[in-house]
Amino acid sequence: MPTRDDLLRELGLTPTWRLRGQPGPVGPDTSTPAMPPLTAEAVPETDVARPVPPGGSTGDARRIRIAELQWGDFAADVEACMACGLSQARRHTVPGVGDTRAEWLFVGEAPGAEEDAKGEPFVGQAGRLLDNMLAALGLARGRNVYIANVLKCRPPNNRTPEPREVEACRPYLDRQIELIRPGLIVALGKSAATTLLGVDATIASLRGRVHRYGGVPLIVTYHPAYLLRNLTDKAKAWEDLVLARRTVAAVAQPPARD
Ligand code: URA
Repeated sequence: MPTRDDLLRELGLTPTWRLRGQPGPVGPDTSTPAMPPLTAEAVPETDVARPVPPGGSTGDARRIRIAELQWGDFAADVEACMACGLSQARRHTVPGVGDTRAEWLFVGEAPGAEEDAKGEPFVGQAGRLLDNMLAALGLARGRNVYIANVLKCRPPNNRTPEPREVEACRPYLDRQIELIRPGLIVALGKSAATTLLGVDATIASLRGRVHRYGGVPLIVTYHPAYLLRNLTDKAKAWEDLVLARRTVAAVAQPPARD
């Protein structure tokens, strides 16, 4: 069982991490400017409404059907999906995994080879880093955490999802968010962030503040696979996770009003 120090070392954050004003080794000390206290009123930044399924064509009928799925039918529906070309080459669909009543929802981009082979998100090297990020927050896969991707099928050679694939798969992610009703969404990387926020922007420009998706606070951070290649940005990812933790705490305990 890895210790907290092991986890922080894995995140590239040792040996200097101490949460300001608190005894325990939970966050950055001198390497990161102190963040202002977050209150429920301080939370909103951008708010993207959940799309309302329109009526009309066959595509609309599909969207409406997916928008009404319950968990009992969800995975089978994804497994039967042929809405885009990715269905042709997949070994397994990867609908998502975890606590369906989770407070924390992490959204990645798309399954890779290992996920395609197992049918579970984030089981490769990036997944191991994600597990360590969760552990550093005192969380674990499946315990108050749900993990999903924008796409439920693997793009060939792990290429970036194409807009039409995102559009075809989007109703599933929207339905997952609707069913889970998480207290916070963490968008891992550009695909998740730009899909959920409906903007074309860099991670650098989106991180460090709280957005909203259909009223749910949303934090943007780097994708674990990116962090494996860019070790120096791990400290920024940790700042994002600390902001995420504060946001969850603020949502759970809004400040008293006069
Ligand atoms: N990268 C992702 O975005 N999702 C996975 O499930 C695995 C790797």
